[in-house]
This record gives sequence, C-alpha cells and structure tokens, in this order.
Amino acid sequence: MNNGKICVSVCAATADELIEQINCAEGLADVIEIRFDCLDEKQFLKTFELLSSNKVILLTFRPKEQGGKIEVDRDGRMDFWNTFVANGSLDKRQFWIDCEFDLKSEISNINFQKIISFHDFSGVPDDLEEIYKNLSETSDIIKIAVQADDITDPIPIWKLIGKAKSENKEIIPIAMGESGKWTRILGLAHGAFMTYASLDSGHETAPGQVSAIDLIEVYRAKDLDETTEVYGILGSNTSVSMSPYIHNAAFKFHGLNSVFVPLQVHNLDEFMRRMVKAETREVEINFKGFSVTLPHKQTIIKHLDFIDETAKKIGAVNTVKIVDGKLHGYNTDAQGFIEPLLNLYGDLTGTKVALLGAGGAARACVHALKNAGADVTIFTRDLAKSKSLAEDFGVSFADFKFQISNFKDFDILVNATPLGMKGKAEGETPVFAEQLKGLQLVYDLVYIPFQTPLMTEADTAEIPKIGGLAMLIAQGAEQFKIWTGLDPPLKEMSRAALKRLS
Ligand code: NAP
Repeated sequence: MNNGKICVSVCAATADELIEQINCAEGLADVIEIRFDCLDEKQFLKTFELLSSNKVILLTFRPKEQGGKIEVDRDGRMDFWNTFVANGSLDKRQFWIDCEFDLKSEISNINFQKIISFHDFSGVPDDLEEIYKNLSETSDIIKIAVQADDITDPIPIWKLIGKAKSENKEIIPIAMGESGKWTRILGLAHGAFMTYASLDSGHETAPGQVSAIDLIEVYRAKDLDETTEVYGILGSNTSVSMSPYIHNAAFKFHGLNSVFVPLQVHNLDEFMRRMVKAETREVEINFKGFSVTLPHKQTIIKHLDFIDETAKKIGAVNTVKIVDGKLHGYNTDAQGFIEPLLNLYGDLTGTKVALLGAGGAARACVHALKNAGADVTIFTRDLAKSKSLAEDFGVSFADFKFQISNFKDFDILVNATPLGMKGKAEGETPVFAEQLKGLQLVYDLVYIPFQTPLMTEADTAEIPKIGGLAMLIAQGAEQFKIWTGLDPPLKEMSRAALKRLS
C-alpha cells in the first residue's frame, strides 16, 4: 500500500454532462479534476452552482497552447481564477487548483492548495532539471508531464521522483503516450503524489491515460510499493494486449505483490541497457520477467543469459524470467498452442494439418505439431518463406492462393496469419466456408475479436473450431508457472480476458 492518490479527470461541454461524470468518478477517485477548458464558457457559472462532491475537486483551466481545449489569453486565464476562485466562495479544504507554471507569480496570492504544472506534448525537454528547479521554488505540488515515444524516454522524469523525495517536495511525474504508461501505473509505488486516470476508456483527457477502474482493479496501483515485483509485455504495440488483464488476475488471485504492465518498446537494446541490465540500468523498477511479442521475439535472444531447448529449437522467445539479475528465455507459444488442440482433437499422430503463415507463431505451431506426430504442410503467399520454415523443421510446404486453395486433403486447418485480427486485417478471412469442406477442425490463432471471420466461416461449414483465446490463456498460464512456480488460476485468467474482450 502506498500513499498516492488517483485523480480522475473529467471533461465535458455542458454542466449537466460534467455533473454526471463527477457522479460516476465519485466511487473511484481520491481527487476529481474538472477540466474547465472543455466546458462551454456559458456553462461555468451553472457548473459551480451545481458542483457537489465528497471528494477533493481539482480545478483546471488549460489554454490550448499548453495542451488544453480552450483558446484563451493570459488575461482570460487570470479572469477565470480571480472570478471563480480568488473572489468566489469555494471551500479551501475541498478545492485545489492546477495552474500552469507561466502564471506562477500571478496566482501566488490565491491561497488554495496548488499544483503548478508544466506540459510538453512534443517530447522530453533537455532542460528538465531546470524546469523542475523553477517549479519547486514554492511549496506547491509540482506536476511535470512530457511525451514519451519510447520506453526509455520517461527515465529523466522518473528520476525526479527520487530528487523530489530527497527535497521533501511532492511531485506528479507523467509520461504521456503508450510508452509512458508504466510511469502512470508504477509512479505511486515509488513516491509520486498522484496519478491521473480517465473515467473509462474513450474518456481519456491525455494520451496514454489508463482508466480509473483498470488502475484500481487490474493494476492495483495504490497497493503497490517499491518491493513489488514487476512483469510486463515487451512489444512495439502494447495497447491491444490482453496480457496485463490475464496476468494481473493471476497475481491478484494468489495475493502476490506483483504487477504486470504494458512496456511499449521500440529500441530493445536501449531498454535492456538503461532499464534492465544490472550493470548499466539507470532506474530500479524491480523487473522480474517479461512476455515478449512482435517484433522482439527473435531480437531478445542476444540479451539472454540462458535459453531453454524449446525456445532454441523454435528460434523465438516469448517469455523471460529474471533470476539474480540473469535473463532466462523460454517459449510457451508451442505448449499454449498444442494444449487446446490435444484437449479437443485428441491424438494427432498422422493427422494432416494445413498451417497458414510462416511467422513467429507459425514456427511455434510447427514445432509443437511435429512433436505431437502430425503431418504438417505450411502455406504462405510467399513460397520462399514457407520453404525456409519447412526445411528448418522437415515438413512440407505449399503456395497459399487466397480464396482458391482448398484443404479437402487435410484434417485440421490452422490460421497463423493476422487475417481477421482487429486493426489492418479486421473483417478479413483467409479462407471461406466452401474451402473448408472435408476438414475436421479449424483453429484460428487470432483472438481479437473473440469470434473471428474465419470462425464464422467454420460455423457456416459446420466444422468445429478453436479460437485464439484458448492458446492465449494456455501460453499465459505456462508463463505464470515459469515466473512464480504456482498453479495458474485458469478460470480467473480466462474470465479477465473475456471481460476485456467483451
Ligand atoms: P508474424 O510473425 O508477423 O507472421 C505473420 C504471418 O502471416 C507471416 O507469414 C505473413 O506473411 C502472414 N501474413 C500476413 N498478412 C497476410 C496476408 N494478408 N495474407 C497471407 N498471409 C499473411 O506474426 P505472428 O507472431 O506469427 O502472429 C500471427 C497471428 O497469430 C497474429 O494475429 C497474432 O496475434 C496471432 N497470435 C496469437 C497467439 C495466441 O496466443 N492466440 C500467439 C501468437 C500469435 P508475410 O511474411 O508474407 O508477410
């Protein structure tokens, strides 16, 4: 448990909408920030008249040039503070104000609890220390928000937490963007005064904001401390990952002081050097392990101290466990893939399997299928790629002709391409019902959406199917076992994923 606060930021155009959002935030927030810059100016008075809450209310009126929503000059900003705060009748015990650093001297005689804030939406300024020094001249709470484009960008702002602590100052460090999410989740555990959250997803008031319900229920941000063991997903796009939901549910079930966070990494070498390796790291996050996804499953191998046999054979690592500072690599995709298949289909000896795709997931599938005695043929749109994979594992390969290939000579079809996955290939199916005739089973590795277009084609052809969620849970369960040595709570992990997917 830490002493940090969760501030839910609300933003609406009308007083009525705003009051509704405040009512929703009551049950989640320690502090509710009202972004007056979102409101229509004609609604200011009505809002103050209707305002009522049991929580601390933080008033913010951010001009557009500092990332806010309202076009207002310096005089207009001071007018707001003088009219509604300095000369108003607000209760000083309940109302705080957030004012941008450039008005620091003008608002110095407004005797409310103040947060003096600085925002840079373009990156991390070189003179961050100087900015901190400037902001820390008064006894106000300091808020510094910068934009993070890669995982290591927030390091300078993270270091300010220690500096503020040693100087007895309160600081709210924020790294905006997906790559900065870890600071929003772990900040309170390391001494940040407050972290900002959105009311729910879709109501974010800044990039990378986590919803209040996720901060509280999924990440348990207020329960964490500096000894919390930190795990995370390493990938170039972590915003769609289910892993935080699955693993945090398992940690919670076992009552572990552990958390699993999104770690959006573009430059893996820099992440390893500046945040992970004991000899070179600049921050102490207490990392204990990682899930690894695109595009780092192969490139992580050079950073490992040990790699297990299965991962070596597959040539890809999706799991890292850190033991005494050493990085151990594993691959749980193969096990996660084959488990649901064996459960539904049974013995695979001699079973003819058509596998679409020759990427990282396909490699794990081929390894597992071969071990289970299946007869595998790899289909790709680029024959050279299936040939190369087929040769590595001693299986067959063929050219995949979209909408033309048929699979009547096969028992099982596995889709290991992203076709159908939310995003670029959303709504697409690699194969139509007509082409599925004669198969015993269709297995789609894609798990967002839960019911993929290929699964719908399988339903039309009346062929049993397995969706990607089964593999996701099984490979995650195996990861959990590797990290903790405990039994993975499968029901809780599946429930957490399903809740998120729905
Ligand atoms: P990857 O390494 O990028 O490989 C993707 C493969 O799909 C490549 O062979 C690629 O061929 C092929 N492909 C892409 N677009 C295609 C198209 N339009 N038509 C035909 N082939 C196409 O990705 P991955 O890591 O193997 O993942 C593949 C899918 O499996 C993803 O959707 C991922 O989410 C899913 N997955 C699920 C789980 C789970 O637990 N359920 C685990 C891992 C992966 P080219 O090389 O020609 O582009």
